[in-house]
Order: sequence, then structure tokens, then C-alpha cells
Amino acid sequence: MAFLTEPVPAYGVATQILPGVRRIVAPNPGPMTYHGTNTWLVRGTGGLTVIDPGPDSPGHVTAVLAATDGHVDRILLTHTHPDHVGAAAALKAATGAPTLSYGRPWHKDFHPDHAVADGDDIDGLTALHTPGHASDHFCFASHGGVLFSGDHVMSWNTSVVSPPDGDMAAYMAGLKMLLARDDTLFLGGHGPPLPEPQGLVRAMLGHRMGRESAILNALGEAPKTTARIVDALYVGLSDGLKRAAARTVLAHLLKLQAEGRVAGDEGGWRMVAGSPTDS
Ligand SMILES: [Zn+2]
Repeated sequence: MAFLTEPVPAYGVATQILPGVRRIVAPNPGPMTYHGTNTWLVRGTGGLTVIDPGPDSPGHVTAVLAATDGHVDRILLTHTHPDHVGAAAALKAATGAPTLSYGRPWHKDFHPDHAVADGDDIDGLTALHTPGHASDHFCFASHGGVLFSGDHVMSWNTSVVSPPDGDMAAYMAGLKMLLARDDTLFLGGHGPPLPEPQGLVRAMLGHRMGRESAILNALGEAPKTTARIVDALYVGLSDGLKRAAARTVLAHLLKLQAEGRVAGDEGGWRMVAGSPTDS
């Protein structure tokens, strides 16, 4: 897949990406976060929206406050994983801005001031509920073809889909939903801006469909555990990466199970006789 890379950004610096859209990268680099979480500062007719305040990092909150002169009108979350919601409480305390997220957040200690629902308009941003990476995940579409895609679609890597909160069927449906749109620029939760996003979204969907076929092939005649399937699919992975791969394989198996194409559980999965092997 044609992922994008970028040099390590200047942490704490608000960079203009488009008129009315700035980005600050938080200092939380890692194997799941690339150079760090993107905090987006979006100027609309109703003031300033912060999309994803980022991790619990006092320095990052200071940077957001400096870039906004402390004037923030709302704090909007693509989802409530800690690298996105961690700074919400401090930013709210410093600015008085209300927080908005899905009404049933993944993060048990986070309680939004306002619940966001699919189709809501938030100062010119249309909320698109896109569960899959997280059950509470939204993308936000602005006029003019810009889509804040959170961790649903990122320019630098594929998304983690880990059950039970991660849902492969919902994730793939969300990719198809984005393919049916004509957004021209994705601004994700990690990584650089993604222009002409349709090609990568199509490749991501193809990658998942290929993985699904490979799992069905690996399953073969005899029942197999998730671990056996992972061993067949991923040769030479380190134990840490194997654990992550096992979550992905399980997510696919649960999708296939819901579709009636495989049956079983962690003790052993098998093909369902007479089910289509591809669709
Ligand atoms: Zn993230």
C-alpha cells in the first residue's frame, strides 16, 4: 500500500494546513501513533473547534493554548482512545470549552458534555459514525472536501481493529462508505495529510478482503485455532507482532462467523459447509 511518510515534525508548533485549519503534533511517538497524535485546530463560523486534544501531556496542552490564545469554543473527539482524549480534561479546564463525543464513549472515565450522533452538524462539520477501529469513532466532513478521518483512515499505516470493541465488519463498511463519497483530502489522527484519498481507501479495503480470503484458505478442512491460522499467514513475525496479528485475525473470524461462513471459537474455527468461500 502506498503509505505516506514525513520527517519528525516540530512538536508544539501549530502548522497551517489549509485556510482555517492548523495542525499540532503531540509528542507521543510510537509504533501505533507514528510521530504522535494530530490535534486539529479548525476555524469555523462558530469559532474554534479543537479536534482530538491529544494525549495527557501538559506540554501539548500548553502548545494548544498558545496557538489558540486560550479561546477554544468546543473540543471534538474522533474517538476516546487515550492518545486522543487524554488532554481533553486539562484543555476543558483551561478554556471552559465543552467536550463532544459519541454518547457511549469507549473511555469509561470520559463523559462528554454533548453527545454526537451520525449526521450531526457541528459548526460546519458533519459527523459520520465510523465504528471499526473503535465503537465510538467518528469522521468529520467539512464543506470543501476535507474529511477529518481520525484513526479510521490514516495516511501512514492501516488501522488496528481489535475485538471486542474493534469490529471488522463495521470497519470495512466504513471504508466502503468513504469510497462512495468524493472527499479530496483526509486529515487523520496520525500522519501527514492524505490528498486524493480514494486510492488508499480502495487499497485498504482490498488488503482486508485479501486477508479474509487467506484466512479462509488457511482454515482448510480441519478446525484450527486462531494461533494456528496466524502461524500459517504470518511467517517469521516477532511475538509482539504476532499478538497484534492475532487480534486482526480474530476480528476477521468474528466477521466471517457473523456472516455464517465460519463457526467455532478460540478453541478451533472451521468452515461452514456450503458457505460461499468468497464474496
Ligand atoms: Zn490514535
